[in-house]
Amino acid sequence: MDVPLEEPPKFTLTSVADYAPLIGGEAADRILMKAERLRDFHVVNINSTYYGGGVAELLSSLTLLMNSAGIRTGWRVIQGRPDFFSVTKKMHNALQGAEIYLTDQKMRIYEEVAYENAVRVHLDHDMVIVHDPQPLPLICHYKRKAPWVWRCHVDLSAPNPSLWSYLKPYIERYDAAVFSLPEYAQNLTTPQRFIAPAINPFSTTNMELSESEIDERIARYNIPTDLPLVVQISRFDKWKDPQGVIEAFRIARKQVDCTLVLVGNVATDDPEGQEVFESICQCEEERIRVLSVQDSVLVNALQRRAAVVLQKSIREGFGLTVTEAMWKGAAVIGGRAGGIKHQIEDGVSGFLVDSVEQAAERIVQLLSDEKLRASLGKHAHESVRQRFLMTRLMEDWLDLIGAFETVFKLKASSDTVWEVR
Ligand code: UDP
Repeated sequence: MDVPLEEPPKFTLTSVADYAPLIGGEAADRILMKAERLRDFHVVNINSTYYGGGVAELLSSLTLLMNSAGIRTGWRVIQGRPDFFSVTKKMHNALQGAEIYLTDQKMRIYEEVAYENAVRVHLDHDMVIVHDPQPLPLICHYKRKAPWVWRCHVDLSAPNPSLWSYLKPYIERYDAAVFSLPEYAQNLTTPQRFIAPAINPFSTTNMELSESEIDERIARYNIPTDLPLVVQISRFDKWKDPQGVIEAFRIARKQVDCTLVLVGNVATDDPEGQEVFESICQCEEERIRVLSVQDSVLVNALQRRAAVVLQKSIREGFGLTVTEAMWKGAAVIGGRAGGIKHQIEDGVSGFLVDSVEQAAERIVQLLSDEKLRASLGKHAHESVRQRFLMTRLMEDWLDLIGAFETVFKLKASSDTVWEVR
């Protein structure tokens, strides 16, 4: 097998030891010991985009951290034509509760692209982790030599029943299904586990920035800073409710002067993003800025400089942007949906809202009360430190890998049946 050449250490990877000042030396040692037991274990992650959206963000950090601890963790991305991504976006929407008209043609496109990818993607790993619905049917095309895990990141509080019954036979071929929250549990024969996502505090999105770096980055986009900033940073997606954010801002602005900045990007596997972006652009005015860019330093700078960060989602498997902003001590207002309900403790580490009117009220309240903002931000940072750093996510995966009973005998027999304890 070909492996990267050993090079002089021009670049360094963030390692579990780098987290010790944040999580404590004992926790870091415990995680490293668990990793040591799985040294040279070969894992592959498969999803449908290298860029845009939380899954890509998670995988870029987690795969490197796992490798830094000796677990050979890879990442493959499936290829698909636009019609494939149009079908899978409809599926994504339907998993979050939208209607779907699942025609034979759509199913054929979905299944055919999975087959084509399986022909190209050669897998000889000790574990295969498949993310979200796009690559789900891949499993049908392999003679399995290792456990396969389906990791679904979307908000499964109310999946569309007809889509769920179509996908269920695929899911039940897997050895385990992993969802972000226990409340997303489904009626499945496959064992289900629950792992919440997490953030990398050392990434470009989250690393410390000086005041001058923040100023410089915000000025680069001509964002006015004469008034307090209210910010939402999200893929352009209807579930993130950008229109609701604009309405809430307009109501709030009758009482407190401020500027709204909506920053977003469009993931390569999301064909609806451009349309959502264009519809929001129509609302642009002097105090409403809409930017479509991929600039992680800008995301970081805005989350640090904002007086209020909004994430007014209607459905949200788990909002990384919420946790990122909380890590920076921001005062965050989140929609009372999916994972956000568990990320924010209402009134302690941020606010949860159910409507445009409530969001507007909270914006006004926060902009008028600097002490409250600081107090929420302090609790927010601490709650992320305790629950949502990348090392906790890595440990959860190490535990899951270790929970496959025959983990050390995987290569012994191709007839092995894997059971997750
Ligand atoms: N993000 C970004 N630029 C943007 C919008 C989002 O870099 O313009 C990043 C954001 O910082 C976060 C991820 O994309 O890391 C979005 O993850 P989240 O879980 O919030 O939402 P998803 O897009 O997965 O629904």
